[in-house]
Amino acid sequence: MARKPAPQEDAPSVRYGEAEGGGCDHAGCTNTEAYRCLYRDRRAVDCAWVACRDHLKVVDDRAYCMRHAGVVEVLIMAHRQGTELLPPDLDDRCASLVRAVANDLNEPVVERLVRWGDTNTSIINDPSIRYTRADRIHHDPGHWERVWGLATRTGILLRVGLRVEDTRPETVILTGGVTHLVATIPPWIQRHLNGDPMQGSQSELVERLAFQQQLLQALDEHVEKYGITFPHSVMRSPV
Ligand SMILES: [Zn+2]
Ligand SMILES: [Zn+2]
Repeated sequence: MARKPAPQEDAPSVRYGEAEGGGCDHAGCTNTEAYRCLYRDRRAVDCAWVACRDHLKVVDDRAYCMRHAGVVEVLIMAHRQGTELLPPDLDDRCASLVRAVANDLNEPVVERLVRWGDTNTSIINDPSIRYTRADRIHHDPGHWERVWGLATRTGILLRVGLRVEDTRPETVILTGGVTHLVATIPPWIQRHLNGDPMQGSQSELVERLAFQQQLLQALDEHVEKYGITFPHSVMRSPV
C-alpha cells in the first residue's frame, strides 16, 4: 500500500507514538497506518489508543488521541497560567492492578536483577505500564504490562513481565521470557469477588506480602532452573 504523504500542517518536529499494526481504532476508519497516543498519566500508565493521522490531534508537536489532546491542552493552558497539573489517571482497571502489584514488586525484583547480573549486564526497569494489543496469530490477548529485565549489549538475557489481560481482568500474570510463571487472582480481589467483608488493614498488608512472595518465589525458581541466558530469538523487545 502506498504511504500516505504527511499532511501539510505536520511540521517535521511533530512526534508520533509508536507505529502499530492492526489499524486505526476510530470506529469505521480503515486507515492501516496508525500510531499510539503519546499520553502518559501521572502514574506512568500509557494510553492504549491507536489511531491514524486523521484521528490523532497534534498538541505542542505531539500526537494524541482526541480525548487526551483535550486533556493535554488544558494542562498546557494551566501551565501557561502558572499552575502545574499532573496528567490525570487513565482509570483503567487492568492497568491499575498491574501498577498496584508492580509497586510492591519493584524493589525485590530490582534487587534480584542486581544480584543476577554482572559487569556486562544492564538492568531494564521501565516504570511505564503499557498496553499491547491482541495478537491473534500468537493467541495473545490484549494486555497491560510492566517490564523489568537484564540485558547485555547484544540482547536480552531475562525479561520479567507483570501483566493483566483484557480477557481476565482479575488475574495477575508473571512472566519470565515468554513463559507464564504464575497466573493468579490476588487474595484481596478474590475476597472482593466472594463478597467477603473487609478485613483489618494489618491482615491486608500480610495478604499483600504473601502474594508478593508467591510471585517472587516463582521467579526465583524459574531462574534457578533455566539461568538467565535465554535464546535471544524467543525474547520479545523489552519495551
Ligand atoms: Zn483513523
Ligand atoms: Zn490517548
